[in-house]
Amino acid sequence: MTDAGDGAPTVGGWPLPDREFPFELRVCRWAEACWPPGETLPDDRTVVVARQLGIRDRRWDTLVLECDRAKFAQRAVFGERALDSDLLHVVRHAPADWAWYRDALPDPGYPWQYVREAVHQAADRGLIEKRKRGNRIELRRRWRYPEWVERVVAIENKPDLDASAARALADQLERDVALGLADEVWVATRATGDGNGDAGDGGRGVEPSLLERLPVEAGILAVHEGDGPGGLAVDPVWHPRSLAVDRPGTRILDRPVGGDHDHSAARFEYADPAWKAAKRREISERAYERGWRGYRDHVRTDCRQFRLADPGATLPACAAKGRCVTARECSGSCPEFEPEPPAWRTQGWPIDGGPGAGAMRLLARQRDRQRE
Ligand code: SF4
Repeated sequence: MTDAGDGAPTVGGWPLPDREFPFELRVCRWAEACWPPGETLPDDRTVVVARQLGIRDRRWDTLVLECDRAKFAQRAVFGERALDSDLLHVVRHAPADWAWYRDALPDPGYPWQYVREAVHQAADRGLIEKRKRGNRIELRRRWRYPEWVERVVAIENKPDLDASAARALADQLERDVALGLADEVWVATRATGDGNGDAGDGGRGVEPSLLERLPVEAGILAVHEGDGPGGLAVDPVWHPRSLAVDRPGTRILDRPVGGDHDHSAARFEYADPAWKAAKRREISERAYERGWRGYRDHVRTDCRQFRLADPGATLPACAAKGRCVTARECSGSCPEFEPEPPAWRTQGWPIDGGPGAGAMRLLARQRDRQRE
């Protein structure tokens, strides 16, 4: 991490847009290398980091999965692609010996024809074995599916979290705490130097009102420029409480704003532990497939202006704009898009692509390394 001279932070000499996207990528990069904050991960654990994942009505910015290292390795035999809820139902309950799928698998709570389709799909992907006996489809497992995720940690990235933004975020975090789908929730925000961080952090901290507004169960990370991964140094200002993921949670559906004009009642429903466990598994599977570098599927690495700001931080940068860019900017609708000249693909570059393809391969290699 360097400074452009005018005080603006840069990565690899490229100014950063002052938005959540680069902040989020850098937090992901930091978490991949340094999780958990202020502590050391036990040798028998590893982490998987992903971004923009969650359930239908809640998407977290950054997810850190703390995994059992041995079980994580066992998960690899099921391939790089995520197993969705239907496939998980088949793979997790497939028997050791041949059996009719309706005898072997628990009642799914939806029509069996969908289970039969999932059995075919699982067999096509090599996840189970399948055979036909008369008009019955039988299956047996190839491998036991491991429960490879120990803890799910959610981080909201809010680089510029002032008191009013904290109010809005507090409501969201209170819902997260009530539901208890993640083991921990954190907020990562830019350090302000208010001096409420851990001792020995050089006085870095966050705006004091954040400590009052955010629920005490949520942790707060003060993020500042440094020489750590992603060009960051991160101090835990407030440690979160572990949430009861294996107990029933409360989903807040509607919440009155209060005051003279709103006398409506709050609406909520319970989330049972089995539902929460299933959702945690599905989210973890999607995180396993996507990691946090999934933006590579959206940015125009095939544009002659595309650059990787820094192979370590892997932030997308644009030579035309002279700075790091967001995935939204660097999209198919960018008016400055220029295709790579065909000659780039043959002169000194591998036959299967030019610099853009090289950037894609680098991002893919880094994602694969995360799965090892
Ligand atoms: S010109 Fe547009 S498409 Fe090309 S790298 Fe820059 S932002 Fe991306």
